[in-house]
Amino acid sequence: MATVSLRNIEKIYSSFHAVRGINLSIEENAFVVLVGPSGCGKSTTLRMIAGLEDISKGELLIGDEVVNDMPPGERNIAMVFQNYALYPHMTVQDNIAFGLKQRKCPKDERNRRVAEVAGMLELDTLLERKPRALSGGQRQRVAMARAMVRNPEVFLFDEPLSNLDAKLRVQMRTEIKRIHQVRPTTTIYVTHDQIEAMTLADQVVVMNKGLIEQVGAPQELYHRPATKFVATFIGSPATNLFEVRVVTEGEACFVELETGARLEIPESRKAVYRQHANRQMLLGIRPEHLQTASLPDTASPLTVDVDVVEPLGLETFVYFRHGKANCCARIAPTAEARPKQPFTLYPDMTQAHLIDPQTERVVTSEFAAD
Ligand code: ATP
Repeated sequence: MATVSLRNIEKIYSSFHAVRGINLSIEENAFVVLVGPSGCGKSTTLRMIAGLEDISKGELLIGDEVVNDMPPGERNIAMVFQNYALYPHMTVQDNIAFGLKQRKCPKDERNRRVAEVAGMLELDTLLERKPRALSGGQRQRVAMARAMVRNPEVFLFDEPLSNLDAKLRVQMRTEIKRIHQVRPTTTIYVTHDQIEAMTLADQVVVMNKGLIEQVGAPQELYHRPATKFVATFIGSPATNLFEVRVVTEGEACFVELETGARLEIPESRKAVYRQHANRQMLLGIRPEHLQTASLPDTASPLTVDVDVVEPLGLETFVYFRHGKANCCARIAPTAEARPKQPFTLYPDMTQAHLIDPQTERVVTSEFAAD
């Protein structure tokens, strides 16, 4: 079992700076997910950990050992790829056993270990088949079995579910989490899908443009995003962003929206808003914090023209434009919102995020999880 530490890791491809200095400490047996949009550098980071890509600058440690120059085969890491990379001419049994055979593991021991993981992953009845006679989900499980059978210190997953259909993806996600619970191993998992990241991870690492934006537990990232990027990337539908000006009038404090609508700032939040008085800022409000009834702390109504209504059974999404912003409210199915009709919402300002548009940092994040 092992910790993994990245210290100021950079990757420069000729002139392109793909990873621009990242620091990360991964605890033993943690499940860490690197998530971010295409091109943010998450796969490159994973491949540097695997030893498949040279590290341009910085130090990579597995346990206490610096492994920058250690060949991949000596790192005691197992990687599961997006395309599974199974050998087509070998049976499932031989595919799973391949790594053990290469390491000269005795046949009895090999068979015992293959049988054990095949049982865990419900592959025991498929051991004599070739990969072409398996479904996508079964191939994915063989790829996992092949990694697990080696008892690696660290598991690396590079978008392992992206070739599966939506239903199977959800099933395999649960399976991966269950396996980690049964057999805890340090795991680093790359995905562009924030829901996959939130559901699997102990710690989510949000990457953007070769840098880490924020590291945190899923709930922490959701409720206390540090940056505009994290506030809008994590959560679906995304956080609504309104352009606002902070206005103070005597004891009162408001944010004024592009349309002139004013939202009163509750007493508990006034101090931080006052620090930004008369400035143009961004206000982030999650769809579920646009409510349909006034609460004591959400005094100001916001009347909007409804564009599209999407009933989902348990809840309804109401889409509308406000100034330049395309917005969504997540409301109870009993609320009577209709397209092309005005509708009144009550933003819960105790949950709103005030964002500095210059630095793109959330200035209220210490409050937002109440
Ligand atoms: P995706 O989800 O699309 O795989 P990613 O976040 O995993 O994206 P990386 O594959 O890590 O992104 O790539 C990061 C950046 O580095 C991209 O802009 C990519 O074009 C660039 N890049 C990757 N490999 C090379 C290479 N061999 N030579 C030059 N640039 C590269």
